[in-house]
Amino acid sequence: MIEKERLYKYAKLLVGTGCSFQPGQEILISAQVDCAPFVRLAVEAAWELGAKDVTVQWSDPEIDRQRLIHGADELFETIPAWEKTMLETAAEKGAAVLRLGGGMFGGMEGVDPKRLTAKQKATRRECPKYSAGLGKGKSTRCGCGIATPAWAKKVFPDLPEEEAVDKLWEAILKVARADGPDPAQAWADHTENFRRRTTRLTEKQFDAVRYTASNGTDLTVGLLPGHCWWGGGIENEEGVYYYPNIPTEEIFTSPDRTRTEGVVHSSLPLSHRGSLIEDFWIRFENGRAVEWDAKSGKEQLSHIIETDENSCYLGEAALVPKSSPISQMGLLFYSVLFDENAACHLALGRCYPFCVAGASDMKEEELLAHKLNVSATHCDFMIGTADMNVTGIMKDGTEVPIFVNGDWAEEFA
Ligand code: ZN
Ligand code: ZN
Repeated sequence: MIEKERLYKYAKLLVGTGCSFQPGQEILISAQVDCAPFVRLAVEAAWELGAKDVTVQWSDPEIDRQRLIHGADELFETIPAWEKTMLETAAEKGAAVLRLGGGMFGGMEGVDPKRLTAKQKATRRECPKYSAGLGKGKSTRCGCGIATPAWAKKVFPDLPEEEAVDKLWEAILKVARADGPDPAQAWADHTENFRRRTTRLTEKQFDAVRYTASNGTDLTVGLLPGHCWWGGGIENEEGVYYYPNIPTEEIFTSPDRTRTEGVVHSSLPLSHRGSLIEDFWIRFENGRAVEWDAKSGKEQLSHIIETDENSCYLGEAALVPKSSPISQMGLLFYSVLFDENAACHLALGRCYPFCVAGASDMKEEELLAHKLNVSATHCDFMIGTADMNVTGIMKDGTEVPIFVNGDWAEEFA
């Protein structure tokens, strides 16, 4: 069994650093029931850090699944009034929001993916304050993984349950930088590296980035004037710096949705709502995914690409070096929160408006007019390989190495 002290240290990191929790603040902890033992530690950490109040919202994937299967369509066109009140009130009060889950996989078999999308859309529509993008509003939020028996069994199917859970905890604590003598300081150092690299990349104002690898990937992604690269945490409207995800290793921007050209091959399976999409490729033309195939899960891939009229365009391009702890570990977590930090990735769908100067407050039509993508979905898929080169292309055609053989080129190291 993992010692309680180590888990409490992780809980304190998530509340204190992840949510950047301040004395007198409220916190809403949204958690799966099978995370209960850890949730109690997170609650304890919040009170110790001076919480004004602590609310826990429980969920259970199996109960959600049954509702999604048996409920009538109209149930998913809206969200319950109590839930709307809870989420919007938390956002208005500037509460911290901590989401604790045991990986997002399995459990959703038999559910029509359109219903899941409808539910997401309803939440975005009915809870505009809660759904406001990163960097907006007064609340701070952090999403993290908790080693549950179900998740551990998925990652380590051959181990007895208790051993699997311990092994998954060890992996989580390591990649979350939660296990050293001073996790908060480890995150301060990590943040400093992010700052140095994002500043340098943003200063370059590349016109495009080109990804090449021996698996056949040769993809050019156009970038917009005034784009910035982000990584680590983000400030809310009041200047409080928090980490939307722990762990995080990626440096990302949102591209010009109309200028993606070429072919990209996946480098890791994509675990999407319970099914696995493996060995796939996508060809882009004028920004749009026009052709694709997969060794398995092609139907799921098509569903992602065809979610709505803009889910065939990219909303994110992210850089993760092969030297990142998650990449080094070589473990498939079956959770996008972890796996997207293992390799360079792209996302189909929604952009991050704050990645382009002046776009944070734009309405959807304006974002589209500025060539930033808008969609109900945002689906990350991994493309980074150990031999991947990423080249920045300047407006005048000059090429600047960003990644050489899967890791930062000298200028950005
Ligand atoms: Zn990403
Ligand atoms: Zn993403």
